Amino acid sequence: MRAVVIDRYGGPEVLTVRDLADPEPGPGQVVVRMAASGLNRLDVFVRQGLTGPGVRQPRALPHVMGAEGAGTVVDVGPVARTDLVPGDHVMVFCGLSCGHCRYCRRGETSRCPAYAILGEDAWGVQRELVALDPASLLRVPPGMSSIEAAAVPTTFTTAWTMLMTTGRLRLGERVLVVGASGGVATAAMQLAARAGAEVWAATRSPDKARRLSELPYVHHVVDSSAPGWSAQVRERTAGQGVDLVADAVGAPTWRDSIRALAMGGRLVICGATGGDRPDISIRELYQAHRQILGAPFGGWNDFVDVVGLMERTGIRPLVHATVPMERTGDGHRIIERDEHIGKVVIDLT
Ligand SMILES: [Zn+2]
Repeated sequence: MRAVVIDRYGGPEVLTVRDLADPEPGPGQVVVRMAASGLNRLDVFVRQGLTGPGVRQPRALPHVMGAEGAGTVVDVGPVARTDLVPGDHVMVFCGLSCGHCRYCRRGETSRCPAYAILGEDAWGVQRELVALDPASLLRVPPGMSSIEAAAVPTTFTTAWTMLMTTGRLRLGERVLVVGASGGVATAAMQLAARAGAEVWAATRSPDKARRLSELPYVHHVVDSSAPGWSAQVRERTAGQGVDLVADAVGAPTWRDSIRALAMGGRLVICGATGGDRPDISIRELYQAHRQILGAPFGGWNDFVDVVGLMERTGIRPLVHATVPMERTGDGHRIIERDEHIGKVVIDLT
């Protein structure tokens, strides 16, 4: 089978497509023929060999890339605990967990002490065949394409967790999404609008500001290239600010994200793509009853909840580009140059 492999860390040029032996499924496992895989910042960080506090690395090289994806079941092991059958269209959830600790039993799998991520701690899904525990697989809703489904598991689970599970979004609240063109950001704006929020999008790019303002689920756009841009938000909300900020950028945006918050507002974070050592004022936080909440990805429950919503409402990922497996490096370049609005998906067929 072909796979997207790295033998060393570095730029997009270290991504290679190569033939590997087909997986040997265990008796309880299910084999999936992968159709597509959504790219995430995670893929870029894994490829670069990013190190630092809270960052995991592949345990060994060579490493197969890819955290999220979709495909078709081709084989079900004799003792697999599942009702999946060959031919079923499935999404792959990237969270790996023990299945029996107190968190796993509640569906809060991302809190499991043994938690690990496909494509980061273990070989990923950017390959033609993958053998997995059926606990990692969920059927794709009818009418959703493989390209769309490949951009759901990691992206929409993270967005859902930020807004709903951790952020406890309520009808009528104002939500500001910082770095609004990313995959999780566009998913968060779709979900927030559907949940009855007033949606604000912050971007540094005038071109993206124009394109974002044309999306039906974006109600206001803020130019976050301007120093002290949170003043725009406060001014345009009559001094009130927003109730929830979803920020995956980190150090460059935290100060203004906090200042954009209303009294008692919540800053929900799922990443730090721009750096993880922000310069903030502790007084600006506590004196206005503001909270900072961590929402790293989400659990199986969050995944099932958001896919159920997508099935009932027809919400679909915004796909910026689809690139063939051999051009995975080009997909990484699109993300690194910040050219995208929405998801970049690798076609594995
Ligand atoms: Zn567990």
